[in-house]
Amino acid sequence: MQLQDGKYQLAGGIDPLELCKKYGTPLYVYDAEKIEHQYKRISGAFDVKKLEIHYACKANTNLSVLQFLRELGSGLDCVSIEEVELGITAGFDPKVITFTPNSVGLEEYERAVEIGVKINVDSISILEQFGQKFPHYPVSIRINPHVMAGMYSQISVGHIDSKFGISFHQLPLVLRVVEEIKQKVDHIHMHTGSDILDVDLFMNAAEILLNVAKNFKDLSFIDFGSGFKVKYKPNDYETNIEEFGEVFSKRFNDFCAEYGKDLTLIFEPGKFLVSESGYFFVKANVVKQTTSTVFICVDSGFNHLIRPMFYNAYHRIENVTDPNGRQRIYTVVGNICETDTFGVNRRIAETIEGDILCMHNAGAYCFTMASNYNSRVRPAEVLIYKGKDYLVRKRETIKDILRNQVQVNVLQKEPA
Ligand SMILES: *Cc1c(COP(=O)(O)O)cnc(C)c1O
Repeated sequence: MQLQDGKYQLAGGIDPLELCKKYGTPLYVYDAEKIEHQYKRISGAFDVKKLEIHYACKANTNLSVLQFLRELGSGLDCVSIEEVELGITAGFDPKVITFTPNSVGLEEYERAVEIGVKINVDSISILEQFGQKFPHYPVSIRINPHVMAGMYSQISVGHIDSKFGISFHQLPLVLRVVEEIKQKVDHIHMHTGSDILDVDLFMNAAEILLNVAKNFKDLSFIDFGSGFKVKYKPNDYETNIEEFGEVFSKRFNDFCAEYGKDLTLIFEPGKFLVSESGYFFVKANVVKQTTSTVFICVDSGFNHLIRPMFYNAYHRIENVTDPNGRQRIYTVVGNICETDTFGVNRRIAETIEGDILCMHNAGAYCFTMASNYNSRVRPAEVLIYKGKDYLVRKRETIKDILRNQVQVNVLQKEPA
């Protein structure tokens, strides 16, 4: 979104205020051209023989977003069988879907085998159970390289205390189990977490994974997960994917030469592909000055965008209706009956009741984490591409909230 002659414009010259008028607020808008740009950046950054980008769809599972990424050539990374089903609905070939769950029982893996997706095993217990049932179904093993990475401990998943993956220190046990059950292992995986700032740290973890990989003789794929960082503020650091790609490709190609085979390199970006494509538009319902604070109270809350409350994530907030007013210091809060703060002490152009505010970086982990708390409906979603807007999810209604409820009066007397 850019300021053009004192007014904000989305890609393709789309007026965000017109979208808010047409679809109402709160409203999620995703810019497909930005997704395309990010996809092309990452898929162009690696100079290797075989590369697959598997979009980590827990970031945003809107079917039209999934279908758009499929058209661009992306595969999919799914953490639940329901995400796999969404991927199939969006037209993905099961062969380019990886199923990377955590803390699930064997039944979910059995369903994944039926669908025919790539399976990533996250514990030795599951490896044993799975292998005894499906020794010929090739699997991937998720290794935990124990690096502490990422901005927020909640989304750092590769460290020593993490529940994810199998510790690389347990490699001898993994090899013993694989040998005993004759499990076919064609794929090895790691995912250290979100928002890794440091290329060196990533390379350290990658070295650990490559060392593990040497012990498996029938690999076709090595999957290095994700961790790419995006900008939340205009001057933020973002992963320099082009530079990283150059360093990484060289190391990967050397490894393939040593291994004696051109392995397929896989990455699973979520945030990198979709975070910056998203805008969340809300309306200032009330501007309220208390003794210490000026609050902008908006028509949404953590039921729609929980990242600020959940892990202190920063989402830039701007006044779209009147971007040119004097900057004032506001605290932006939602309408949920708990502490429900989107941003504290933010400089925002002077806001009056009825103005539309925009929260940035709303493409990843925003709608997918939304709920119906306070019995409020979830927002509509709109996808824009080349100057056109497409409604890709209707706003919910009270019917959606009532659906599946079974109203029983337990005090009613049985008929005599
Ligand atoms: C969440 C997740 C990702 C994506 O992480 P981002 O930080 O959004 O890029 C990739 N792989 C796995 C296994 C994940 O769980």
